[in-house]
Amino acid sequence: MGLIAPRLDVIKPSPSMAVTARAIEMRSAGIDVVSLSAGEPDFPTPPHIVEAAYAAMRRGETRYTAVDGTAALKQAVADKFRRENSLDYKPSQISVAGGAKQIIYNALLATLAPGDEVVVPAPYWVSYTDIVLLGEGKPVVVACAEADGFKLRPQALRQAITGRTKWLLLNTPSNPTGAVYSCDELAGLAEVLLDHPHVHVLTDDIYEHILFDGRTFHTIAGVEPRLKDRTLTVNGVSKAYAMTGWRIGYAGGPEPLIRAMATVQSQSTSNPSSISQAATIAALEGPQDFLRPRALEFQVRRDRALELLRAIPGLTCRTPEGAFYLYPNCSALIGRRRPDGTPIGSDDDFSLFLLDQARVAVVQGSAYGLSPHFRISIATSMDLIEKAIGRIAEAVEALR
Ligand code: PLP
Repeated sequence: MGLIAPRLDVIKPSPSMAVTARAIEMRSAGIDVVSLSAGEPDFPTPPHIVEAAYAAMRRGETRYTAVDGTAALKQAVADKFRRENSLDYKPSQISVAGGAKQIIYNALLATLAPGDEVVVPAPYWVSYTDIVLLGEGKPVVVACAEADGFKLRPQALRQAITGRTKWLLLNTPSNPTGAVYSCDELAGLAEVLLDHPHVHVLTDDIYEHILFDGRTFHTIAGVEPRLKDRTLTVNGVSKAYAMTGWRIGYAGGPEPLIRAMATVQSQSTSNPSSISQAATIAALEGPQDFLRPRALEFQVRRDRALELLRAIPGLTCRTPEGAFYLYPNCSALIGRRRPDGTPIGSDDDFSLFLLDQARVAVVQGSAYGLSPHFRISIATSMDLIEKAIGRIAEAVEALR
């Protein structure tokens, strides 16, 4: 009998974290690697949020809290949903966890029975399918064509739903494509969901505040209030407030689900850090004026990265509408060979080639369920973006 449980056989460590780790390893061996694999803003946490954490510690807020969030934070989250999303949740309909990732984990573990199906539009954030598998559910991956803006179309959703479908997972703006659903597009999906009352929706809105070209944000329970009782609206402070290390995510949803999620959390990690919870209140209730300039900074980087990438023969790239990633298409390079003759047969091969030859770390599209692509993160300085894409251009030129 082996030590490691069979349930671990079906999942893998996060590929983006794996690439980042490999880049760090190469760097510590003295190799000058530029990493475009990070999934976190390169901005610091704003000082007023840091100060709120110090103040909480000085007040002695260093003890266990209620499992799924302090009353004060739940109120701040409910206020945020009302203010920014026109969603009315009572504090009893709010859950707080150690990141949006834990929220999603709690929700799926609390609801999936073996064989329950979860519709996951691809490309998807790497963790969705693995969390479904850990919960013994069945991911039903629906490929969303680049020509459709990498977005799920109502007809494709209708075809994917069966009697066993428990959840639809949505993510807008999307990691890895930056696709953003418009109000009309969400209304189209909602129409299908209204015909299937057994399907619940988990919408991951973590990139809500990183939108480009003057877009406005919409979330499905706000677009179609009749879905609110079966929607879990997930968000968090990691991306908007540059608080990835503080580990706070939250959600609004139906009370029985919120209670079940608290039960899962109570037997795993208990409450999220009391100090981070206090800091999150400051994030949600404090000044919001830095959000737009930061999104604009990402937009400037996006524009430059697009310009440079599109000048590379063999690469094409759709314009992301939000988040801080680009998802170039490398199909024209599949079948080419490295200078030493090794064939590039997939986006895994291409990404490895970029790491070896260009010393640029990207994440292969296969990790996100739609190939042949690769993801680059623009959550790094303009200098590094230019340097990295310059190296990618040189490496591609060396392909035979
Ligand atoms: N959802 C998406 C789409 C993400 O890209 C990420 C982080 O990369 C998360 C959730 C996780 O966020 P958190 O740091 O709140 O766990």
